[in-house]
Amino acid sequence: MSRVYNFSAGPAVLPEEVLKEAAEEMLDYKGCGMSVMEMSHRSKMYETIINEAEADLRELMNIPDNYKVLFLQGGASQQFAMIPMNLMKNGVADYIITGQWAKKAWKEASMYGKANAIASSEDKTFSYIPDCSDLPISEDADYVYICENNTIYGTKYKTLPNTKGKILVSDVSSCFLSEPVDVTKYGVIYGGVQKNVGPAGVVIVIIREDLITEDVLPGTPTMLRYKIHADAKSLYNTPPAYGIYICGKVFKWLKARGGLAAMKEYNEKKAKILYDFLDESKLFKGTVRKEDRSLMNVPFVTGDADLDAKFVKEAKAAGFENLKGHRSVGGMRASIYNAMPIEGVEKLVEFMKKFEAENCQ
Ligand SMILES: *Cc1c(COP(=O)(O)O)cnc(C)c1O
Repeated sequence: MSRVYNFSAGPAVLPEEVLKEAAEEMLDYKGCGMSVMEMSHRSKMYETIINEAEADLRELMNIPDNYKVLFLQGGASQQFAMIPMNLMKNGVADYIITGQWAKKAWKEASMYGKANAIASSEDKTFSYIPDCSDLPISEDADYVYICENNTIYGTKYKTLPNTKGKILVSDVSSCFLSEPVDVTKYGVIYGGVQKNVGPAGVVIVIIREDLITEDVLPGTPTMLRYKIHADAKSLYNTPPAYGIYICGKVFKWLKARGGLAAMKEYNEKKAKILYDFLDESKLFKGTVRKEDRSLMNVPFVTGDADLDAKFVKEAKAAGFENLKGHRSVGGMRASIYNAMPIEGVEKLVEFMKKFEAENCQ
């Protein structure tokens, strides 16, 4: 068996310990003679799995009792519609556009009400986070929406926007569980898990209880109502059962590693290795304003598309996979999520130094 260093933005690297455990339990989960994949989601065995997953997540993120945790399907993109359908009581929401995911969410919301783009960093290819200290928040906005870590562009909010008392809704898909968060600052925090937590197919929504009501937009499908899922404890219909089981294992892995404060420290150390090199390199350079750099997604370029392509090709041959940047930015992107070991980043930087020496006169 040989595993590569996988720098994919998502689906992405998972902890090897988790994969091994899941493999061991594949045919016979804890003596029940079947895989978790084959098990009724109404069984006692599965109830324990989903309840433990929720309890561990609550502990990791210090989620207050007045927030519900929902394990849903449809990916992060389904939330682009669910959020306005459930929260737009006045039919108005403010969106901060820091990349394609925020833009998609904003466009989706426009189908259900008045979605205002109150700030944007599109003028510089989303390479920074706009100043959000005094934005023109709408008087009657039901919420202010952000994408907290921009997977494609490699930017991250270091301070949350001043929402002037309005509810903050945040897509944390690509920074989920990468550092401690103060849940009380948000109305809704949600993320698709395939970036930093588990296999594709699960989206986790952490939502303040008072925002879960029957008062949703007319025509909102049953499956897209938060209340339905909250009342049924994420078991209204068959949940993404196997995916939740893997997420649960990742939560335990994170707890064993010291929780989110320890992860933050590890992630900062890891990202610093790469950013320090980018700052001194004669060949490679980071594309993001320094103060807005993400710890999770690190885009960089050589400035020469042919050389970029050569780098990606040679890196792949050397065991560094999925370094090609998103088509809208070009160049390279290294996604260094929780499960990327520090050795992966150290070896990547060694490889980049070698490439630089060979290709830079
Ligand atoms: C990947 C991603 C999405 C889309 O996720 P899907 O689960 O594919 O819908 C949305 N937001 C962010 C920040 C992402 O990284």
